[in-house]
Amino acid sequence: MQQVVLHDRTFRLYLKESQIQQAVKAIAAQINNDYIGKSPLLVPILNGSFMFAADLMKQLQCDCQLSFIKVASYQGTETAGVVSSLIGLSENIEGRHVIILEDIVDSGHTLAKVIPLFSSSNPASMRVATLLHKPNAAKVPVQVDYVGLEIPNDFIVGYGLDYNGYGRNLKDIYVVEN
Ligand code: 5GP
Ligand code: MG
Repeated sequence: MQQVVLHDRTFRLYLKESQIQQAVKAIAAQINNDYIGKSPLLVPILNGSFMFAADLMKQLQCDCQLSFIKVASYQGTETAGVVSSLIGLSENIEGRHVIILEDIVDSGHTLAKVIPLFSSSNPASMRVATLLHKPNAAKVPVQVDYVGLEIPNDFIVGYGLDYNGYGRNLKDIYVVEN
């Protein structure tokens, strides 16, 4: 599909499934190389990162575990800039090698809130992997260790990312038409 209509907006094809999978494999290759002999705990931030987490985990060769967390900071097409809640993180992460998984890093507010919550529990190490990064949207500086693709400051949907709850099921990624 070259175009999709979701709710009240039209989106056009931006990244094909094959390009997304290539980016996922490139991140997995780096993690496989960096975590040899280690047993990392993957912590995807719901909802957006569920598809990325699933595809990435299938490519990992190390012994790894998974624990989802949830935060809310985004409504409609503009970031609210305020992270309101964090749900999950029942695992004891003390001494663990934690890899936080994000679908996309935009303003950086989500990670800026989440990272200190992890650091205070004394993990052995903590890194961030994101499928997509909008470097021009950064409002607060955040550490991002693995980036699949850098993209411009446009609103996108698909592959786990939504517009008002719709579009998460799309295999490709689409950008909003202005
Ligand atoms: P940040 O806190 O860095 O501004 O944004 C983080 C979260 O906002 C992402 O995990 C994602 O859920 C959401 N987000 C940021 N940019 C986009 C976008 O272009 N499209 C969608 N659907 N969500 C986005
Ligand atoms: Mg997200």
